[in-house]
Amino acid sequence: MPSFESWGRYPKAKQELKQLFWSQDFPLHDDLHSFQLPAGMGRSYGDVCLNDGNTLLLTRGLNRLVAFDPNTGVLCCESGVTLAEILDFALPHGWFLPVTPGTKFVTVGGAIANDVHGKNHHVAGTFGRYVRRFGLARSDGTRLECSPNRNSEWYSATIGGLGLTGLIDWAEIQLKPAVSRMICCQAVQFHGLEEFVALSEEKGGCEYTVAWIDSVRTNGKAVRGVFMCGDHDRTPEPRKAMSKFKLAVPIDLPGFVLNRASVGLFNTLYFHKQVKKQAAKVIDYEPFFYPLDSVLHWNRVYGKHGLLQFQCVIPSSDGLSAMREILDVVQKSGLASFLSVLKVFGNLPSPGMMSFPMPGITLTLDFPIRPPKSFSLVDQLGEMTLAAGGRIYPAKDARMTPVQFRSFYPNHLDFTRYVDPRFSSSFWRRVNGE
Ligand SMILES: Cc1cc2nc3c(=O)[nH]c(=O)nc-3n(C[C@H](O)[C@H](O)[C@H](O)COP(=O)(O)OP(=O)(O)OC[C@H]3O[C@@H](n4cnc5c(N)ncnc54)[C@H](O)[C@@H]3O)c2cc1C
Repeated sequence: MPSFESWGRYPKAKQELKQLFWSQDFPLHDDLHSFQLPAGMGRSYGDVCLNDGNTLLLTRGLNRLVAFDPNTGVLCCESGVTLAEILDFALPHGWFLPVTPGTKFVTVGGAIANDVHGKNHHVAGTFGRYVRRFGLARSDGTRLECSPNRNSEWYSATIGGLGLTGLIDWAEIQLKPAVSRMICCQAVQFHGLEEFVALSEEKGGCEYTVAWIDSVRTNGKAVRGVFMCGDHDRTPEPRKAMSKFKLAVPIDLPGFVLNRASVGLFNTLYFHKQVKKQAAKVIDYEPFFYPLDSVLHWNRVYGKHGLLQFQCVIPSSDGLSAMREILDVVQKSGLASFLSVLKVFGNLPSPGMMSFPMPGITLTLDFPIRPPKSFSLVDQLGEMTLAAGGRIYPAKDARMTPVQFRSFYPNHLDFTRYVDPRFSSSFWRRVNGE
């Protein structure tokens, strides 16, 4: 029986899968007893794209580009089109994604429903800001066209609406001009969160900024990391696609492969890969934006039990001391986060009433699942985020409690009015204590 997993492969869910190929395939007429949920590429890590005991509507078959204006960069497509497909089509015409997450293997529907952010959040905000309009199909057969001026309350509820307001069947997106596929980037080593924040300010004029940190080695010492920033190269060049050859992790590796010693060694090698404190180069956009996409199924490295991701944002006011405490707790836990990323979010508002980003510092961590230690650590980080007035990203979450959810997302009551009565998800039932 075909199955559907989220990228973290936790929790496991048993659900009926229904493939949609045409927008008219929805609503379903033979499924009146279970709750439904649209799902794209399953690149969310936790259970926001799962619907245990119910039905998943697989949208990848809604994969047609509908219209494109090469003069304005406005693209209309079905919701199962991936960001990779948009780039393949639009870059040769001189257009790029306005916002992209760290993988291009996500659908337009998924990018809207989680209102994803990227390395340019400080200057561009979230993906939802570039969605001019979309179609929303409800289980009662209603079809709504939503935009900032039309059905605007549905527009706001559906951007960052976690797939619960109905099926997005098409969307119109504003792309941005790019004359080259190359990115001029710099990497700067830093020691300490203060240095990270200073670099974020100093390089804030760069369109893309992000930092990798070594979360294993804090041990009383200042956290070390590499701050990366970049801008699109403005020199036009023949837009040749890179080779599509990809490595793949063929099997689940044993869980012990990623341990504190191996991650610590990797971090030391990575930190010293760059011999100088500062380095600059021009690289293709793929390794710059999507370093992990070059290894297919890289999530198998975490073993068959999967991984827990954790992404929080801590508001700017008290960001540094709370972040320092969080990193200290991670370091003392003895668990190693393989990929640890810091970024300063900007203050451009999102149109979505339930969107995750807010001004502050965001931290992303991941841990192989080793019960009970990995669960209790992530739970503790959730409580620390709550105490610091921050919030956790549902797309990367498998542990948020109902109390935390209500505090992180103060618009949740208003949002509930827009949830389709035939829709639900494993995440939604969990954070509502069901
Ligand atoms: C390597 C990696 C890096 C990532 N980096 C980032 C990052 O930098 N920033 C960031 O924000 N996220 C990031 N993510 C998370 C990812 O971008 C989001 O989880 C994204 O929403 C996944 O899209 P998807 O198509 O896989 O959707 P799924 O994961 O399948 O679903 C996500 C949500 O969208 C809903 N949905 C899907 N299609 C529709 C539709 N047609 N109509 C209505 N609802 C729908 C689902 O119900 C679900 O709630 C990353 C993920 C990975 C694996």
